[in-house]
Amino acid sequence: MLRGGGGCYKHAFSSCWCMCCYSRCCAVAAAATSTRSHRVGACVVTVDAARSRRLLQARVLIVLMRVLLQSMLRGGGGCYKHAFYGIESHRCMEATPSLACANKCVFCWRHHTNPVGTEWRWLMDEPEFILQGALDNHCKMIKEFRGVPGVLPGRLIEGATPQHCALSLVGEPIMYPRIRKFVQLLHSRHISTFLVTNAQFPDAIRSIDPVTQLYVSVDASSKETLKKVDRPLFRDFWQRFLDSLQALADKRQRTVFRLTIVKSWNADEIQGYADLVEIGKPEFIEIKATRSRVTAR
Ligand code: SF4
Repeated sequence: MLRGGGGCYKHAFSSCWCMCCYSRCCAVAAAATSTRSHRVGACVVTVDAARSRRLLQARVLIVLMRVLLQSMLRGGGGCYKHAFYGIESHRCMEATPSLACANKCVFCWRHHTNPVGTEWRWLMDEPEFILQGALDNHCKMIKEFRGVPGVLPGRLIEGATPQHCALSLVGEPIMYPRIRKFVQLLHSRHISTFLVTNAQFPDAIRSIDPVTQLYVSVDASSKETLKKVDRPLFRDFWQRFLDSLQALADKRQRTVFRLTIVKSWNADEIQGYADLVEIGKPEFIEIKATRSRVTAR
């Protein structure tokens, strides 16, 4: 991988840019002192080869994605999106056009070597390029399951035509300067979109065209806790957070609060969360919970 060649099975199976990044990180982790600058989706970043627990999280996620995918290809169940919204894992692409974001959340699995910033200042791939890469890699991953015992041929054919794209996982997708065009391209192919934003860019929330489902991450219900948990870069992070929730309430589309609750970090402010719901008026609330900040995402 360090010479620009292929990697382990995780590289072959990865369907999205961020996953490519992680599998590269896994690959370079063996060379503990080296660094490598490489292109990741919409931006160029330097990946520090130093290992961290986040790498383990990334590996766990890759395995989990594979398990869910294989289950659906065999006619079984998928991830929570299947139970809640009918989205089939084998027709769902995980992708993000931006690894960068304006936070450094304590539970982020980007292992804190990905770029952070309050505005876009990196090289950029065009949306057409990112979309084609995502589609190609998704199909490649599906093809890897040919001949696997129990996999249904019909599901393999279905999987070659993704119907959904989750714009999340890592980074802040709404930061990507051409996010509107990217979403338009997905919709023009009849691919639905779930976009998760970290509530630091209210103007972008206001200006983006409706996605299929718009999520805002709500990681705390007070200014002090948000600063402690998300470690935002913006000085006016709390006002941006509140403005983002208000922007969500003003959107005429399906919206979601995504709560990531971590014991001893942000689990105690129940009334505060209820007050935020009054501001954002989401149609759904999804809660993830964990006892440890290391495994929250
Ligand atoms: S907002 Fe998301 S990508 Fe950014 S630091 Fe937090 S968890 Fe990581």
